[in-house]
Amino acid sequence: MTATGTFPILPGATLGVLGGGQLGRMFVHAAQALGYATAVLDPDPASPAGLVSTHHLRAAYGDGAALERLAQLCAAVTTEFENVPAEALERLARTRPVAPAGASVAVAQDRAAEKAHFVRCGAPVAPHAVIDGDAALAAVDAERLLPGILKTARLGYDGKGQARVGSRAELAAAWERLGRVPCVLEKRLPLAAECSVLVARGRDGAMVHLPVQRNLHRDGILALTEVFEGNVPAAQTQRALQAAQAIARQLDYVGVLCVEFFLLEGGELVVNEMAPRPHNSGHWSQDASDVSQFELQVRCMAGLPLVPPRQLSPAAMLNLLGDLWFDGADADAAPRSPAWDRVLALPGCHLHLYGKAEPKRGRKMGHLNVTGATPEAVRATVRQAAALLG
Ligand code: ADP
Ligand code: MG
Repeated sequence: MTATGTFPILPGATLGVLGGGQLGRMFVHAAQALGYATAVLDPDPASPAGLVSTHHLRAAYGDGAALERLAQLCAAVTTEFENVPAEALERLARTRPVAPAGASVAVAQDRAAEKAHFVRCGAPVAPHAVIDGDAALAAVDAERLLPGILKTARLGYDGKGQARVGSRAELAAAWERLGRVPCVLEKRLPLAAECSVLVARGRDGAMVHLPVQRNLHRDGILALTEVFEGNVPAAQTQRALQAAQAIARQLDYVGVLCVEFFLLEGGELVVNEMAPRPHNSGHWSQDASDVSQFELQVRCMAGLPLVPPRQLSPAAMLNLLGDLWFDGADADAAPRSPAWDRVLALPGCHLHLYGKAEPKRGRKMGHLNVTGATPEAVRATVRQAAALLG
């Protein structure tokens, strides 16, 4: 049974989110700006979202009593990450409207199910095979799939749970190392660029989207997103949008969905993966779009109208990893705060820090949105900021 609820849920009501990371925090900020109260479910007493939310339920995502309390508090519930147990969402959905639905999150949680869904939608994907046992491993068509990337079907993020494999022997060894868990083996493709798009779909099926974004990854982690008119060619932009909309529509998706793409050297566009929530690559929208991806998340779950967002200026987003707190040379040095005052002296720099107490290498601590009159001006400011941060 799925609760239908009464819509729209107007400001003054309480909106809930499973997960208290940075995405939950920015959801809370957007909901509160619109006049909602918020409730966050996260076991960490110092979680970035828990620190700013009206209510913080400190409990595990599978804790029945906490889920019940969340349902009592909230008029609707969303999630900030795909690895919440889908059952928790389904349980909440018995009494409260939940967006996105547990069934949609379950597809995004599992690379094999996700790939199958893309194929069903007619979206182009990398040649791949599901490795779920010795028989599947033996049956791999090496000609078609190697060299490849072996990815755990579940719980991978920021390039974790992946191994590059060039031969059958490497594939077998990598699968052992990954613990023989179900995996997807993908052919390694010649990437010319990566891009992503955020679509928001309401309960009535209406869809709006943010512009297609160009993403640069470093060591498997998103480093920089640029959103300049024309930086993804028009034909690929159209195809990316159509694919993302079909992927959302065929799930009967409600909420914000990010779809990531590879642009191949030959101009071909391939769907990589999706995230059933706002995404790191959409953070620029906080400062350079008249509606941010987090406001879209609020509007979707509350059944508010979805108006097409308008980009206000060329924009870029630079991720701020914990490495910036450490001196490159000295591995044992105590962390020190980067020179934020100097970065903030640059026009068009908008700093977002997540309130995480402990910087760690590779940990996402915040991001810097950069706006400017032209793409060249934005790029110049990004270069200056990066140089100041060292
Ligand atoms: P994650 O869940 O960690 O983001 P992805 O599947 O998006 O996992 O992989 C991380 C990065 O690895 C991608 O952004 C891309 O740069 C690279 N990558 C992943 N799959 C392929 C592939 N089939 N061919 C080439 N590069 C890939
Ligand atoms: Mg990815």
